[in-house]
Amino acid sequence: MVEIARVPVLNDNYVWLIHDEASGETAAIDPAVGQPVLDAAAARGWRITQIWNTHWHPDHIGGNAEIKAATGCKITAPAAEAGKIPTLERAVSEGDKVSLGGIEAEVFEVPAHTAGHIAYHLPSEKVVFVGDTLFAMGCGKLFEGTAEQMYGNMKRLEALPADTKVYCAHEYTLANARFAITVEPDNQDLQRRFAEVVAAREAGEATVPTDIGLERATNPFMRASSIAELAERRAAKDSFRG
Ligand code: ZN
Ligand code: FE
Repeated sequence: MVEIARVPVLNDNYVWLIHDEASGETAAIDPAVGQPVLDAAAARGWRITQIWNTHWHPDHIGGNAEIKAATGCKITAPAAEAGKIPTLERAVSEGDKVSLGGIEAEVFEVPAHTAGHIAYHLPSEKVVFVGDTLFAMGCGKLFEGTAEQMYGNMKRLEALPADTKVYCAHEYTLANARFAITVEPDNQDLQRRFAEVVAAREAGEATVPTDIGLERATNPFMRASSIAELAERRAAKDSFRG
């Protein structure tokens, strides 16, 4: 049994803390900043023993050094981006396993947003930390990769069990929903979700985590039927001003 806590930081980043009661271990996923993440852990009586990074962008590794200095935690990050993550200690790639006490996360390589982007999948918990690859009704921008790679990522994540909870690194849901509804205006699951998201954001509530089943039903990038269609939707979203 793990507990997962959301730490909202900067404009729209979510840092996740995952705590394993049995071992007392806590991992911080993509700590954009240091002190607020340390404070959030301390408030729960948790000590951060690990950091797991999904990719090198500063809003995902910015807190690494400060948290390590304060806790002595071990930092795991993608091998393909090791040169851009100087604080890293363990470099991981496809198929590697990362443990939190007795719980295992498997590493998926999901390049496209960045060339070495990884996700951490915890099958026993039905949880996946996806960084900036998959968002609620969205996907990451293709900064260092191709639509073909992102299409492959969507297919791979789509194949996880429907009740797998998806922890992404940003609250982009409302903007994504506004775009998604223009792609599939007649999708009733999407209409319902759009209304729920508007209400949640008006009430100041977070809309993450999402889950794979909900994304299969409503995410225009996961629902793209071809690489070309994903590419077209990604380009349209890049210039969308909803
Ligand atoms: Zn990013
Ligand atoms: Fe980001």
